[in-house]
Amino acid sequence: MKPTDYDLAIIGGGPAGLTASIYAARARLNILVLEKSALGGQILVTDWIENYPGFPEGLSGADLVMKMADQARRFGVEIETNQVQSMDVAGPLKTLVLDDRTVTTKAVIIATGASPKKLGVPGETEFYGRGISTCATCDAPFFKNSVVAAVGGGDTAVQESIFLTRFAKKVYLIHRRDSLRATRILQERALANDKIEIKWDSVITAVNGSDAGVEGITIENVKTGEKSDLPVEGCFVWVGTSPNTSFLDGAVAVDKAGFVVVNSRMETSVPGVYAAGDVRNTPLRQVATAVGDAAIAAFQAATYIESME
Ligand SMILES: Cc1cc2nc3c(=O)[nH]c(=O)nc-3n(C[C@H](O)[C@H](O)[C@H](O)COP(=O)(O)OP(=O)(O)OC[C@H]3O[C@@H](n4cnc5c(N)ncnc54)[C@H](O)[C@@H]3O)c2cc1C
Repeated sequence: MKPTDYDLAIIGGGPAGLTASIYAARARLNILVLEKSALGGQILVTDWIENYPGFPEGLSGADLVMKMADQARRFGVEIETNQVQSMDVAGPLKTLVLDDRTVTTKAVIIATGASPKKLGVPGETEFYGRGISTCATCDAPFFKNSVVAAVGGGDTAVQESIFLTRFAKKVYLIHRRDSLRATRILQERALANDKIEIKWDSVITAVNGSDAGVEGITIENVKTGEKSDLPVEGCFVWVGTSPNTSFLDGAVAVDKAGFVVVNSRMETSVPGVYAAGDVRNTPLRQVATAVGDAAIAAFQAATYIESME
């Protein structure tokens, strides 16, 4: 085989990508870490993380990113800002097409994570960034003493709604079922918070507003069919995530929802290509699971590369 530019390319600089880089650097592999935007992935927009072990008081997402990045740099990892546009990984020599060049590598770890899902209702596209947000950490301060809506019933929706109450005077939490999916401790906090009013069995059918931005939402009770308008100045959406896998374009197998299919060794359908974190088929998308996946993926990649020599 022709010499390659790198032993291992890691795509994504979130918790999974950074962890994989630490393991790969300590295995003395010649690696390239590619991150298309800000280092840290989704935890960068997370106000407070209190379920990642080792930090008994919890810590901000930004602090956790900084610690992970510092640890990676300590082992000489360099992170390049560049986006993988496509890849050809069928043979032993793998090619990645970046924004400005093409690189070759022996192995690849896909750690491109996921992005917030959209509601798909009228007004959503129009008011995105003008009252509609998926990041409370970034945008909650704009809604001081306002009434806002939050959509969802999982951990992220409930935790971020509680965060919103530090700024907003009232938060309507719109949830399509009659009970929350979030971890019990978060449910208890939300139910005890008198700034949060939960609209059970309800979905948003439209986001309404004017040139000035969001002025209200229309919700529908899924049991009675009754519609009502709620005057709100902002609407935060946390209804799940979609995988960042469009660039793969069939290069490795994905499931129906587009998440990369891997086995317990984080091996994809293609030898030498691994996936870790939120981008893969997993029952739990969290920092703790992403870093665990990444450690396995990097270990397996190192074993694979060694077997080629
Ligand atoms: C609001 C919110 C609150 C959360 N709270 C918690 C919490 O309290 N505790 C917890 O454990 N988890 C929490 N999570 C989940 C946690 O953030 C994710 O599980 C974790 O970030 C997944 O890490 P990852 O590295 O797999 O993916 P990501 O964090 O999504 O990182 C993927 C990275 O890949 C980059 N990328 C994508 N495509 C490309 C490409 N083609 N080329 C180059 N780079 C690319 C992206 O820019 C991104 O930086 C929360 C998530 C959100 C959104």
